[in-house]
Amino acid sequence: MNIALIAHDKKKEDIVQFATAYKSILEKHRLFATGTTGKRIEEATGVSIHRFQSGPLGGDQQIGAYIAQDEMDVVLFLRDPLTAQPHEPDISALMRLCDVHQIPLATNLAGAEILVQAIERGDLNWRENRQENEQQGRKE
Ligand code: PGA
Repeated sequence: MNIALIAHDKKKEDIVQFATAYKSILEKHRLFATGTTGKRIEEATGVSIHRFQSGPLGGDQQIGAYIAQDEMDVVLFLRDPLTAQPHEPDISALMRLCDVHQIPLATNLAGAEILVQAIERGDLNWRENRQENEQQGRKE
């Protein structure tokens, strides 16, 4: 499963704690993150993460591009709802693409916990099965 992790600055500590608590689940998957979020999680947990640009420099849009290509399965995005973000249009665009492509998206810790447990239970395996079926269909 390809999982994207993003946290606004005031939520960085939360995502580090989240990734530490769920390291045993997360490390079984391919992890992606915006620049600073990824660096913080890597330093704290030692798990390897593909890091995009920092969010304000285009990282949210890079994750959006993966979603548009059906290459991201889940987005865990700890947003700060109380601080204006300079890259608000990019954030809205990312969330919109999740809705367009039916990508499970959590925007706070409570939702992220539910999604990570769903991943572990296999609730989202339909995404990988569907991709395999599509590849099989293309070969036939
Ligand atoms: P960052 O980006 O992980 O590089 O801080 C996150 C964001 O603010 O969108």
